[in-house]
Amino acid sequence: MANHHPPHDILTAYTAGGLDEAEDVLVATHLTLCPACRAECADLEALGGALLAGIPPEPPPPGSLEALLERLDQPPPPQPSPPPAEGPLDIPLPLRRFTGPLSRIEFRTVVPGIRRFDLPMSRLDRPVALVSMRPGLTIPPHHHAASERGLILAGGFTDEVGHFVRGDVCVRGPDEEEPHQQKIDDGEDCVVLMVDDGPKIPTTVVGKVVNFLFGM
Ligand SMILES: [Zn+2]
Repeated sequence: MANHHPPHDILTAYTAGGLDEAEDVLVATHLTLCPACRAECADLEALGGALLAGIPPEPPPPGSLEALLERLDQPPPPQPSPPPAEGPLDIPLPLRRFTGPLSRIEFRTVVPGIRRFDLPMSRLDRPVALVSMRPGLTIPPHHHAASERGLILAGGFTDEVGHFVRGDVCVRGPDEEEPHQQKIDDGEDCVVLMVDDGPKIPTTVVGKVVNFLFGM
């Protein structure tokens, strides 16, 4: 179960339909893996519904009552079938429609140990990508020029904040004083959905080389 969640204001914006496509996909994917945030979003939606219910309704257009009564006489429409059960480590459905299953993603190698797949909605000023990092890798220290959100889909890593595994969301921003450094867990590739507002700023020569090659 996830221990690191999107900020509250992001969940609020999600339930209000106020996120752009990249962030919307990240939150929707996190929700498939996080019962706690699903419950929070349900509460927010109920609150929004209650607020809407306080607005005086407009009078129904002429004839609508008759149409409603007529519909009630009809048999109910067939319900859509539930989504198929997911493999324990596959890409959740909200994201998979952009990537396909994990086993078929055509990552490109950017540096040894780091592979990347840019999603169709990715732009230069808004990179959106799946990044796959090999077990045991250390990402050199770097700062962030703008906010970055990452959702871990497989494997895990440790940084200054803690340990992150499948379902966790890490949020980094330009206001952090300490450079950010990640150590990938041993055992399996760490696959992260990354949504960035801007580039990283490496703090070492090695980091600058990685940053240049990483394309971020
Ligand atoms: Zn959550």
